[in-house]
Amino acid sequence: MGRIAKGVKCSVSGCDKEAARSLPNPRVSAAGLKVGTGRRAFLCKDHYKEYKKKTKTERKLEKWRHQG
Ligand SMILES: [Zn+2]
Repeated sequence: MGRIAKGVKCSVSGCDKEAARSLPNPRVSAAGLKVGTGRRAFLCKDHYKEYKKKTKTERKLEKWRHQG
């Protein structure tokens, strides 16, 4: 998990909160969040929670696939 500088804003369109996490952009857009272009996406706490929720579901599906 990358550290981010203070004052960086969340990359999700319409969100103006301070970013708490930095993640690779493709992963974030794959999770269904609307981030702009760029290699890194910055997420505020709320959007990071949302991102985690969505990736959790994905991981579960992957697990099922491996078990099946
Ligand atoms: Zn946000």
